[in-house]
Amino acid sequence: MESQTVSLPMDAERQIAHTDRFWQSYRRGLPVVEVVTLEHHRLPQVECDVVILGGTLGIVIGCALQRRGWRVAVIERSHLRGRAQEWNLSRAELEPLRQNDLLTEAELETAIASEYNPARIGFYGGSELWVRDILNIGIDPVVLLHTLKEKFLSAGGHLCEVTEFKHLAIHPNGVAVQTDSQAKPRSAPLTGRLLLDAMGHFSPIARQARRGASPDGICWVVGGCAHGIPNCPHGDLFYTFSPCTGATQDFWEAFPARDGRTTYLFRYGDLSRPDHTFAQMIADYTQALPGYQQVAGDRIKLHRLLMGFFPSFRDSPWRSPWPRVVPVGDSSGLQSPLSFGGFGAMVRHLPRLTDGIHDALHLDYLGRDDVRALVPYQPNISITWLFQQVMCRQPQMVNRLLDLAFTQMASLGEPVYRPFLQDALQWQGLTQTMVRMAIADAPMILRIAAELGIPNLLDWFGHYVHLGRYTFLANYCSPGFEFHWQRQEQSWRYGAGLDSVASP
Ligand SMILES: Cc1cc2nc3c(=O)[nH]c(=O)nc-3n(C[C@H](O)[C@H](O)[C@H](O)COP(=O)(O)OP(=O)(O)OC[C@H]3O[C@@H](n4cnc5c(N)ncnc54)[C@H](O)[C@@H]3O)c2cc1C
Repeated sequence: MESQTVSLPMDAERQIAHTDRFWQSYRRGLPVVEVVTLEHHRLPQVECDVVILGGTLGIVIGCALQRRGWRVAVIERSHLRGRAQEWNLSRAELEPLRQNDLLTEAELETAIASEYNPARIGFYGGSELWVRDILNIGIDPVVLLHTLKEKFLSAGGHLCEVTEFKHLAIHPNGVAVQTDSQAKPRSAPLTGRLLLDAMGHFSPIARQARRGASPDGICWVVGGCAHGIPNCPHGDLFYTFSPCTGATQDFWEAFPARDGRTTYLFRYGDLSRPDHTFAQMIADYTQALPGYQQVAGDRIKLHRLLMGFFPSFRDSPWRSPWPRVVPVGDSSGLQSPLSFGGFGAMVRHLPRLTDGIHDALHLDYLGRDDVRALVPYQPNISITWLFQQVMCRQPQMVNRLLDLAFTQMASLGEPVYRPFLQDALQWQGLTQTMVRMAIADAPMILRIAAELGIPNLLDWFGHYVHLGRYTFLANYCSPGFEFHWQRQEQSWRYGAGLDSVASP
């Protein structure tokens, strides 16, 4: 099972070098370019209701808004085409795509590339937990995006591919978007009433809004899809099979895919890790993969290689300093800093976002405070910050700690571990788990708490109190009809993990 015998795709070296160059430039700090400016004069005319920058998840919300009768334009730097690697989530999480009339049952089934059960969670030296119907559906992004794109175009949507966003001017009555297109040079800016930033983690608009702040945490991931690994009906959601020997703990995921088996290696850290390179991480991955999957290395043929990193900010989601601008998808920072389920997070928030944006357009509530209400604080996501900190600061403790946490969650049952695994952590389950953990291994919990320090613990405790408050309000306050009151009610529900996704 030698490392070099795992065969990599043809262009692997180029891909690794490219990602390493981008990572190093990101680590040093990407420049903050002023891409958004405020103008005081009115636009003579406004062409559409919503302009969406970035087509990957942009087309999902674009189609949903188009279905509500709004004129939508999508600007995509490249061709609007999903990546080859599947997005995993559960069937229940896909419901918003059907309910919002984006896909028919048959179209949804066509987009499902794989389905498996059960999945394993386990940590080195500990016990294993087997779960069902969590991250067990693989959606083919190529099929999904192609279907949505065709529907969008046939319903009269305006799509500009191979067109790069350059500048956004915000006027009192709309936005004007300047682009650069090799395909179709356009001198006049595209105008709309509202702008959605769906340009992902490295959006220049998000960078300007955050004033170039550095991320507080990073999750690096490498992996891909391989032939040659024997067909195995189960998957791994969160798995370690080795102790931490260096500065980071290795975590693994594995899923059956349409054309082989997908495996990922991921690690948590931050920008203070200049020694991280994707070349080294790929070498570690190919070395460990044969042992992990119990197959000789020379039988494994990786036909797709994926790598990337997910920056996360403690202060998330970013709240627009401007009127008429709403971040969606990875750009917003609404997703968990622990998982890389950005597609799942977007689909989960789709009903909330679609209703909110629809109401905002309908009522012409597009001022700064109005658009901020569409991207709410979520204590159940912010609270996971401390867990991210433990992963990156105390990797030696992680296996023991996670084993303890999941053993307690397993004994409390599915209503506790399911929301956690679906990034919809709930106050009651969290409280029960923490109490049990403290009883089961108080010395370890105290040691971790001491190493994290008072500021981190106070910050965490603040989110914990808000999580309790949001849970109470989501349960006992009835929804109202006024725009801001409705947004508030939704933010309590989502922020407390009490939206529908967590129910089996
Ligand atoms: C290895 C890996 C595995 C993953 N697995 C899962 C999974 O199993 N489940 C899950 O839910 N999620 C998963 N994700 C996360 C998921 O891929 C992302 O959350 C999702 O792609 C985010 O979409 P986005 O549109 O917000 O951002 P992006 O995917 O980054 O897309 C941004 C879009 O904006 C365009 N763009 C950027 N700049 C400009 C510009 N200047 N002008 C115009 N267009 C621009 C880009 O071309 C791109 O199309 C995974 C990610 C990776 C890397």
